[in-house]
Amino acid sequence: MAEDVIIGIDLGTTNSCVSGVVDGQIRVFADENGDRIQASMVSFLEDGSVLVGNEARKEQVKDPRNTVYSAKRLIGRHFDSRVVQAARQQVPFEVVRGRNDVPLIEARGEQYGLPEISGMVLRRMRDIAEYNLGRPVSRAVVTVPANFNDTQRQMTKLAGGLAGLDVVRVVNEPTAAALAYGYGRHLSARVAVYDFGGGTFDITLLEVQRNVFEVLSTAGDSYLGGDDFDNRLAKYMLLGFQQQHGFPIEHDTVAVSRLKQVAERLKCELSERDRSAVSIRELARDAHGRPCDLTFQVDREAFNLRCKDIVQRTFSICDEALRDAGLKAADLDAVVLVGGSTRIPLVRDMVSGYFGRPAMSDINPVEVVAIGAAIQGAALNQEVFSEVTQTPLLIDVTPMSLGVRTVQGYFEKLIERNTSIPCEETRTFTTAQDAQTAVRLQIYQGESNVVDENVKLGELELYDLRPAGRGEVEIEVTFEVDTNGIIVVTARDRETGMEQGTRIKVSAGYSEEEVAEMMRRSQ
Ligand code: AMP
Repeated sequence: MAEDVIIGIDLGTTNSCVSGVVDGQIRVFADENGDRIQASMVSFLEDGSVLVGNEARKEQVKDPRNTVYSAKRLIGRHFDSRVVQAARQQVPFEVVRGRNDVPLIEARGEQYGLPEISGMVLRRMRDIAEYNLGRPVSRAVVTVPANFNDTQRQMTKLAGGLAGLDVVRVVNEPTAAALAYGYGRHLSARVAVYDFGGGTFDITLLEVQRNVFEVLSTAGDSYLGGDDFDNRLAKYMLLGFQQQHGFPIEHDTVAVSRLKQVAERLKCELSERDRSAVSIRELARDAHGRPCDLTFQVDREAFNLRCKDIVQRTFSICDEALRDAGLKAADLDAVVLVGGSTRIPLVRDMVSGYFGRPAMSDINPVEVVAIGAAIQGAALNQEVFSEVTQTPLLIDVTPMSLGVRTVQGYFEKLIERNTSIPCEETRTFTTAQDAQTAVRLQIYQGESNVVDENVKLGELELYDLRPAGRGEVEIEVTFEVDTNGIIVVTARDRETGMEQGTRIKVSAGYSEEEVAEMMRRSQ
């Protein structure tokens, strides 16, 4: 039976996790060292070999220029987008402009597409699953943020393909988390999924009605996470050093990066106990070249006092999500915690205070999304497992509206956001000019009436129309969204029946040849 396991992979910005339902039991798979979580990192070594996961993280300190992280922030985005440009300022590795303005990663003289980087992480997760199962794995459910658009989902699927995995379903992360807690089986409820990770914060409000998951609203800050706690602690350590030795070291980049790593360790220790201390040898040298150590100790109370405002920032985002959904905190039936930073007791206490109820955290918040994905995989596999009497068949909704550009530059919606998927919508358009023989359809995703404020997904052209007066030739346009949230658009000349179709894939930046080349390289 085990060879049929459809694994669940949480492909995170910072970390990834893989799980599966084996012989009726949910298992989170650990690597050869017993680690159940892997860094979503890829490091290209001088000898041409590639390290992925926690091994890559070890390289990061030694070789930051050739160690890639946070690929998820960049995947499916345009090189000129604000996110890519901001990331280029921050990351030590090279992000360059590729053909069709897709961002590429350059390391050791080679260029890689983002799906290739994510594909390497997914392959590592697949290897870990195979190592545990002792047999090959070929199918997976992979999770993505609820606000991922079509291109980002397509690229994530492609990454799976590059890892030798058939991605049978792309599932929203908050949906997977709610599923892990049993919502979607017998339970109908309004659930808040509070996801506080290493570098990002997301809040998603879901309405679950048996097996239909509707995203009521989602909001987030892509630069708010565990790193902020580390930086805050590191700042106090810098002050401590100055007090002990009488000179500042905040411009010493090596010392600061060492301090951040130590700060993360202290932070995690403080989640388990009341007080933590560290002694760092030879952190810096004074004006005479003499090595200076730092001894530092911190208790939970001081940590809480210094970091309260970071947690408070998540609540203004929660306010926004509640406002968008037209709900009050008291309208919710459950709050589910996701992400490593929700292990901090201060976060748990403040979240419970904000929502007025204890948050659910009995499933490890770092593993909960992968577990939900594995449950969905088992359901798709129609595997019967002990805790579940009725297999959940999960139905998601479109995260954003879909439509086309009108001649006047407006956005004409064909499919409204929050429509249950799969779905299909057909509308008839006519030519706008006399003797018009070609029509170019530009496909967009978003909520603004002004089309340029939305995200362009692609376009398709229909040629050789009969030359006639404007408005006389009718073109039937069909939008289909499949269960992964992936879109297929077809346009048909009603008179001749001639059809043009596009999976938006092609226009997401990569040609079929480029995809084939990536496939070849990934073997
Ligand atoms: P994630 O992106 O969900 O994997 O979360 C990673 C973040 O969680 C990092 O900032 C970690 O430092 C943080 N983290 C992991 N475990 C703990 C813990 N026990 N206490 C506090 N923070 C933690």
